Amino acid sequence: MTEQEKFLVEGIRTRLESVLPTEKFVPLHEPYFVGNEQKYVDECIQTGWVSSVGKFVDRFENDLAEYAGVKRAVAVANGTSALHISLVAINVKPDDEILAPALTFIATANAVAYCGAVPHFVDSAYNTLGLDPKKLDDYLADISEMRGGVCYNRVTGRRIYAVIPMHTFGHSIDNDALAAVAEKYNLIIVEDCAESIGSRYKGVHTGNFGRLAALSFNGNKTITTGGGGAVLTNDEALGKFIKHLTTQAKIPHRWEFSHDHVGYNYRMPNINAALGCAQLEQLDGFIACKRALADRYKNLFDGLDGVKFFVEPSFDTSNYWLNALMLEPEHAHLRDDLLTELNGHNIMSRPAWNLMYTLPMYADCPRMNCDAAEDISRRLVNIPSSVSLIEGR
Ligand SMILES: *Cc1c(COP(=O)(O)O)cnc(C)c1O
Repeated sequence: MTEQEKFLVEGIRTRLESVLPTEKFVPLHEPYFVGNEQKYVDECIQTGWVSSVGKFVDRFENDLAEYAGVKRAVAVANGTSALHISLVAINVKPDDEILAPALTFIATANAVAYCGAVPHFVDSAYNTLGLDPKKLDDYLADISEMRGGVCYNRVTGRRIYAVIPMHTFGHSIDNDALAAVAEKYNLIIVEDCAESIGSRYKGVHTGNFGRLAALSFNGNKTITTGGGGAVLTNDEALGKFIKHLTTQAKIPHRWEFSHDHVGYNYRMPNINAALGCAQLEQLDGFIACKRALADRYKNLFDGLDGVKFFVEPSFDTSNYWLNALMLEPEHAHLRDDLLTELNGHNIMSRPAWNLMYTLPMYADCPRMNCDAAEDISRRLVNIPSSVSLIEGR
């Protein structure tokens, strides 16, 4: 490293040290339990209602739907199963192509593969880090054709059936722009909202822009149920069908075991939902902390040349699930030095995910030119984002 490069890498580290409790290792995102978690979990244990039915499951589903402003929420085992069941419910067929960002967590692509379908990768937009609707529009104009109202890939001959935008690190994509593309090519939108609970696009909660949306309550997400997820929808019939599919498609009856579909055991246990109810009560407070932390980071890095703190797009009120620094293009080669420097000084940091088509399972999948996603993934570094970093100090 040159002197100037060292100055940048160490400058980032010392700035972070000035606001983080680095006496101990500072993780990227840790859960925060200061509400009714203990009380509600104790209630499950005392009453014996710990498993797949119980009042906390019902309550969590109602509270979630109300919070997100959707008609129905179905609590499930995790975010990955929420994505999978959403694709099953809209009838994704083997060999369908499903558009998905190249820059995402693996679960987005895996859910497509579980259906025997083929992920088709889309480039990212610099202002959101999520799927770029404008590029997608131009690309589809080029490679697809409409036959009887159905979009086909002219190169592979397969049906292009749906698109899964993902709201990266909590920042909403441009939903209006994607809606226009989806309408033009008759694509169903399934939102991957695993990272965006509480994030609003033009004031409306993410998850209202697709036919279905998947949430995750994994331990590293904004709120957690230990492990868990949910499907959101404004289509009540579809919501009811998803609840049925996730409960082994069992026809309710007092003693008889009868099933009318290949169902799944994707239920969220009551004891996890109890945690979820308590966490949801605190979500607005968590988001206030996370936005305050993001603001602090933004000010901290405003005066340092060579790096920028990633700020929410103008149409978005983000939950800032994971904060991100972007090295300027001329410093992209310093990313791994920066990761070494920060992780070596008790500041957990990590790069963006490897792009999906660089992984062996998805290397042969169709994709557009993903220059922006490649550039972003070379320059991006996530930094500590826990609620406790504001609240606990
Ligand atoms: C966390 C996450 C998921 C999966 O959630 P799990 O609950 O871990 O299964 C899916 N997509 C994205 C983008 C995620 O960040």
